[in-house]
Amino acid sequence: MCRPTEWLTDLGLEGAIQQTFSRLVIHTPRGTTTWPLPWTFSTFDYRTLCELLFEQTDATFDHAKVNGSEGFAVQTDRGELRSPLIVDALGWRRVLGAGANVQPPEAFLSRGLEIHPDGRGDDLELWLDPKYVPAGYSWSFPADDEVRVGVGSFDPRYHVKDPTLELARAVDLPPVRFQGNWIPHKLRPAVDDGIFFAGDSAGHCLPVTAEGIRTALYFGLACGTEIRAVVDGEQTREQALARYGAFSASHAWKYLWLKRVQNLVGRLNPTPVMPLAVRGMNNERLLRWAFAHYREIAPPPGPTAARAPRVAVAA
Ligand SMILES: Cc1cc2nc3c(=O)[nH]c(=O)nc-3n(C[C@H](O)[C@H](O)[C@H](O)COP(=O)(O)OP(=O)(O)OC[C@H]3O[C@@H](n4cnc5c(N)ncnc54)[C@H](O)[C@@H]3O)c2cc1C
Repeated sequence: MCRPTEWLTDLGLEGAIQQTFSRLVIHTPRGTTTWPLPWTFSTFDYRTLCELLFEQTDATFDHAKVNGSEGFAVQTDRGELRSPLIVDALGWRRVLGAGANVQPPEAFLSRGLEIHPDGRGDDLELWLDPKYVPAGYSWSFPADDEVRVGVGSFDPRYHVKDPTLELARAVDLPPVRFQGNWIPHKLRPAVDDGIFFAGDSAGHCLPVTAEGIRTALYFGLACGTEIRAVVDGEQTREQALARYGAFSASHAWKYLWLKRVQNLVGRLNPTPVMPLAVRGMNNERLLRWAFAHYREIAPPPGPTAARAPRVAVAA
């Protein structure tokens, strides 16, 4: 797991950081290019991150399998829970969504698989190489004494197990501790039938890069801010639903653009144009411009966010 470092430090999650990278090494069939990054990415320990986040809350936590909902009632394998404020943060299945669940391969989903062998590395590495995946990319993200190596395909019909094994052989790491899932690449309504959706359940994962942790936190913060205002008696449930739904929808054009870039990457990846494009992008000003726009899709909340989690939400 990897994401912009600023998002971790702003939320007081430095303790989860494993390694920080200020450059990106990109392999294509025509050679390797190293992009200097205008800001850093960090790998982190997922469990520690969740524990640190939880410490900042006054929430109680319990486990149950959610089966569905009706009105203010959520049915689980451990009984029914009732609340006027319900958030579906259950991932791409959008379990509490109205109507039938979207199912791959027809749904707007990418697929990703990675291994977590013991090992060490110094660089954040990407492969834009059709040998592993025609429409998509492969990666190696070192995290202390573990390396996360995987393959993501924008085409849900393309199977990524064999390419992951091939990449593992190429980087000489054992294919152990697999982790895979579907990854949404289309924004969906963040409010539906009185329920809030945040993260993959609302398609908040970014197309092209499949970066979904930053956005889950970004929209999760916005959702939590609105809900907190209802609990504090500052607005009605309906106002919170409307404001959060509008906030998420206001990002639609950014997702649309990223989806267009994803389609372009998918088309160019198997052609000789891609190595040229990777080399051509290796210009500090161009990279600063591109990464600044990418950052602004879900900008960090600011250094006071951990102490004052109720960040302002644009209406
Ligand atoms: C191989 C791979 C590598 C990735 N690497 C990165 C990365 O480096 N950086 C990045 O930003 N993003 C990455 N992503 C994307 C990222 O993991 C997701 O976008 C992100 O986890 C979405 O968070 P979420 O909380 O919305 O959903 P999820 O992380 O999917 O969490 C949903 C949770 O709900 C639970 N759940 C589901 N259904 C039910 C139910 N019926 N009842 C109870 N519980 C349920 C699930 O078990 C899960 O714990 C990667 C994805 C994959 C597949």
